[in-house]
Amino acid sequence: MPRQRLYLYDTTLRDGAQTPGIDFSVEEKKIIARMLDELGIDYIEGGYPGANPTDSELFSADQGLRARFTAFGMTRRAGRSLDNDPGLRRLLEARADAICFVAKGWDYHVKVALNTTTDEHLASIRDSVEAARAHGFEPLVDIEHFFDGYKANPEYTTAAVRAAHEAGARWVVLCDTNGGTLPEEVEEIVSAMAGIVPGENLGIHCHDDTGMAVANSLAAVRAGARMIQGTLNGIGERCGNANLVTLIPTLALKPIYAERFELGLREGALERLTQVSRAFNEMLNRPPELQAPYVGETAFSTKAGIHASAILKNPDTYEHVRPEQVGNRRRVLVSDQAGKSNLISELKRFGMEVDKTDPRLDDLLARVKENEAMGFAYDTADASLELLARRTLGHVPVYFDVESYRVLVERRYNAMGEKVTMAEAIVKVRIGKEHFMSVAEGNGPVNALDAALRKDLGPYSQYIRGLELVDFKVRIVGKGTDATTRVLIESRDETGARWFTVGVSPNIIDASFQALNDSIIYKLLKAGAR
Ligand SMILES: [Zn+2]
Repeated sequence: MPRQRLYLYDTTLRDGAQTPGIDFSVEEKKIIARMLDELGIDYIEGGYPGANPTDSELFSADQGLRARFTAFGMTRRAGRSLDNDPGLRRLLEARADAICFVAKGWDYHVKVALNTTTDEHLASIRDSVEAARAHGFEPLVDIEHFFDGYKANPEYTTAAVRAAHEAGARWVVLCDTNGGTLPEEVEEIVSAMAGIVPGENLGIHCHDDTGMAVANSLAAVRAGARMIQGTLNGIGERCGNANLVTLIPTLALKPIYAERFELGLREGALERLTQVSRAFNEMLNRPPELQAPYVGETAFSTKAGIHASAILKNPDTYEHVRPEQVGNRRRVLVSDQAGKSNLISELKRFGMEVDKTDPRLDDLLARVKENEAMGFAYDTADASLELLARRTLGHVPVYFDVESYRVLVERRYNAMGEKVTMAEAIVKVRIGKEHFMSVAEGNGPVNALDAALRKDLGPYSQYIRGLELVDFKVRIVGKGTDATTRVLIESRDETGARWFTVGVSPNIIDASFQALNDSIIYKLLKAGAR
């Protein structure tokens, strides 16, 4: 049987831009649009031309995308003619391939939000779709509050769907605007709609307020809808929108969908998905979501030592898809339960080949276990693990020796009579026969220590110029008098590489120092410093 075409519609730049704390610039929107286009998304909704300067600028020029670039906006305003509606005019002037109109699918909102009659709103839907077609755009209609509206007054909601379809909308999109609908209801109600509008003209737009946005989108597809709207990493207001990064591999790799449907994905898109998802988080300055389906750092990691050799022998029996299919990788975590096979596979990832019978391997395993018992967490801090491994099995140059450091924290009144807290760090370093001393201030003790440590490393300073701390996490491990502090630091450099280092000490500053020190040494090692 030939497969049916299923269309993907991305609304990251419009609905996703509603996410608290997110505010895209024109440049960012262009970069994201290109990322989506390279994946092979069919429609990219750019925003709301005329509503704000960013979107007006974005829609003032052709974006040169293969996808259909889509402008979003309101239908003709109640009581106005088409010519006398500046909002609609700006939409029709947009440099776009398609226009997605938002229409009210719940009679309550027609009356309360638009302050008009349902008949007038139905006329407005028809007029807007026809105007878009007359101007050469592909028209779509998002039926807002579709599911809740349908439950309250199915006659009106159905009339709105019919009006959009009969006026010639390419897609009538059923929106779960409040996000509270469940998969069973979606499947039932979309099936009813598919009796009125052919499935190849029906789209679904879900929000994740019950954690079901992906499941609801799939339910709509089963009921006949052939277009799915969603966002990158599921961003969006409240709990977010349907996550395209989860939907894409599900549709492309799971036989019940893959055998029936075809997506417009570009060659290699699936294998780039993990990278795209992480690059997008990076752009938003959000920490990576470790447990994200398919693309998370831990999506294919297993901790149990007893499983490790079995996983490596026959991964299919432990994984629902192969990590390489989505550009992710398998991780067999080194942990308390670690056996030699875990360790060997981790070392291989660092580019270190070690024979199973090498006695130094037992040394390393013993040190890993000993350190983990003290509170070190090597399953996350792989740069610290790599340093430990290289020191045990081979050689890591002693670039510098921190002879001493001192950190002062002072709270006092400044000249303006305001209470301020200042931190100052002094670090003494020996490199070969030379001694260096650096002093730096910071808004906190770790910040000051980091600044002082990196301020002057003599010949090594050139290698760490692009080094940056991205994240800093503190945990108390152990209980009572045995309590100690673990500091986990995430760093990155000018090449975009990221790594984690760890330090453990009863003293939080000392734990931070160890992690900072590891991070610098790791960077020097990777940069090939001598
Ligand atoms: Zn929405």
